[in-house]
Amino acid sequence: MSDDLDAIHVEDVKKYYGATKAVDGISFSVRQGEIFGMLGPNGAGKSTTIEMIEGLRAPDSGSITVLGMKQPQQKQAIKERIGIQLQTTALYPLLTVTEILDLFHTFYPNHATIPTDDLIRMVNLEEKRATRSKNLSGGQQQRLSVALALVNDPEIVFLDEPTTGMDPQARRQLWDVIRELRGRGKTILMTTHYMEEAQELCDRIAIVDHGKILEMDTPAALIRKFFQDVAIEFEDGITDVDAYKNLPGVINASIIDGKVTLHSNDVPQTMGALLSRERSGTANFRDLNVRNATLEDVFLKLTGRALRD
Ligand code: ADP
Repeated sequence: MSDDLDAIHVEDVKKYYGATKAVDGISFSVRQGEIFGMLGPNGAGKSTTIEMIEGLRAPDSGSITVLGMKQPQQKQAIKERIGIQLQTTALYPLLTVTEILDLFHTFYPNHATIPTDDLIRMVNLEEKRATRSKNLSGGQQQRLSVALALVNDPEIVFLDEPTTGMDPQARRQLWDVIRELRGRGKTILMTTHYMEEAQELCDRIAIVDHGKILEMDTPAALIRKFFQDVAIEFEDGITDVDAYKNLPGVINASIIDGKVTLHSNDVPQTMGALLSRERSGTANFRDLNVRNATLEDVFLKLTGRALRD
């Protein structure tokens, strides 16, 4: 059901490319003022979904409403009120940060815009205002492309894998920029294949795989729903997961790339059983680690696969 607080409403949208079901019946709503993340591995259908909402691709079926307007019928009116982060900075390698932003302002002659200086401040590029875009670091270019998406002071900002390829520090800086946008009342729809990013940044998440939404909720609720327990991780060379499933307290066990992950609802019992195996010489644990469950665990449980960079 859609309501007045929904910035975006998507209902049973499908997009097939021949035999590839890129998007296979997706429904969700994004509320005004939230950061909503679509999380999934490469090829899951995230970009196709976001581009249909932006009006860049047409769905085969289903309905999309943006700010109460129908996509694609009201595409033009929608375009005025949304901002799309595109990798456009590479198109103007010789222009400075200020010049590119000024140029983008000319694309909106009859529209209220955010002044270039304010945009530069919002994305923390004050020291780079006179630098040519080709001389910016990857993280700075990404922040410039976010600024370009904000020129028309949009109500909704779309970010497709905004931090891919960034180092951890640059990624955190961009997260701060995105949180600041939410602070200004913007709605943000973003895609990511980084668990940590979704967990840290998003108010709600849809976990997407093979063109479908597997689960949708707040990060904390998703983790709670699937794991009221603790993860015990280690390596010991055993490849048969059944060797762990019947240990006391274990409610889920997986082995990926030699790393065993046990979810336990009774850590002392499980640890006791593991240690007695070690003492009896039937196991030899390395890198034993006990931690709370994360979204990565949720994804693994839902899909049987790890998300990879
Ligand atoms: P994601 O953004 O999650 O990585 P995409 O939406 O880009 O996933 O792609 C979903 C699936 O649709 C993939 O299998 C991809 O190869 C396929 N696909 C996307 N766009 C096209 C296209 N224009 N033509 C054919 N196949 C496409």
